[in-house]
Amino acid sequence: MNPFSRLKHALVSAFDSDHFTDSPEAIRAQPERIDPARCMSFVILHLGCLGIIWVGWSWAAVWTAVALYFIRMFFVTGIYHRYFSHKTYSTSRLVQFFMALAGTTCVQRGPLWWAYIHRHHHQHSDEPPDVHSPVQHGFWWSHIGWITSNKNHPTDYTKVRDLAKFPELVFLNRFDLVGSALLIVMLLGFGFALRAGGIDTSPLQMLVWGYFVSTTFLFHGTACINSMAHVFGRRRFETDDDSRNSFILSLITLGEGWHNNHHRYMSTVRQGFYWWEIDITYYALRMISWTGLIWGLKGVPQKIYDSVGNRAPAEKETAAAIAVAITAEPVA
Ligand SMILES: [Zn+2]
Ligand SMILES: [Zn+2]
Repeated sequence: MNPFSRLKHALVSAFDSDHFTDSPEAIRAQPERIDPARCMSFVILHLGCLGIIWVGWSWAAVWTAVALYFIRMFFVTGIYHRYFSHKTYSTSRLVQFFMALAGTTCVQRGPLWWAYIHRHHHQHSDEPPDVHSPVQHGFWWSHIGWITSNKNHPTDYTKVRDLAKFPELVFLNRFDLVGSALLIVMLLGFGFALRAGGIDTSPLQMLVWGYFVSTTFLFHGTACINSMAHVFGRRRFETDDDSRNSFILSLITLGEGWHNNHHRYMSTVRQGFYWWEIDITYYALRMISWTGLIWGLKGVPQKIYDSVGNRAPAEKETAAAIAVAITAEPVA
């Protein structure tokens, strides 16, 4: 392919996540390797943080960045992970659409791709096919390298049939950049409004702190689960992977650090299995359930608590496991 065609395809695929120069099957059969074109979005995201040299800082901008980190971390954990990947609670089709839209503002690609990659992780955790296992591939590959590999980019819609039956979700998955566009427009507008109201900030300052700085931290915070939650921490359950529980990771990811719990039983909305295991995502989902927008939150079966200390396989992502998730006892 000549350089002009290569550039054209790179630009189109930046907007259309389902645009590839080869069939998805052929791309998934490629070897794992860093693809320079796939690195560009990360380079732009990180270089954008240097914008603080020109725009400076203000309390309004810094607090916006912090708030957007935690709000969007909740979107990653409560929506992309606990809903789209594991179906640990139920909602209506309309709310599901807006949840998917909210998820795209996290700049972690579309909900179906995220769920497909994550289900694959559970199915093969810490085995050679696990694309982001630190045990198999080391820290840097599991943290960021795997996302720059072309092989991991196509969504395998056959692995997320329960989600792919909704055309509106497939659309958002394909054009996930809509989330970034929405967030940027909102931040610029917020900056204008605050400045008009006499608050010390500017639209560009909001853009740099609220989008670039916050999203960079959000990416690394999320990626720490891939690169560290199978290496650092304690193992309550003797699962057949290396997943671990970490209090620190749970704080920065709103509960996702209880990763050994999660690999033992992924079908529950909780990741902290005991009251002392802080799980902010779970508390927030419980509160949202009081509004009636979501329902059917799945609890932890007694047999899981009873299995502490016993050798037990990690719950693998299979049709049977999803069926268990759907029929599990609702949280009282
Ligand atoms: Zn894991
Ligand atoms: Zn999971």
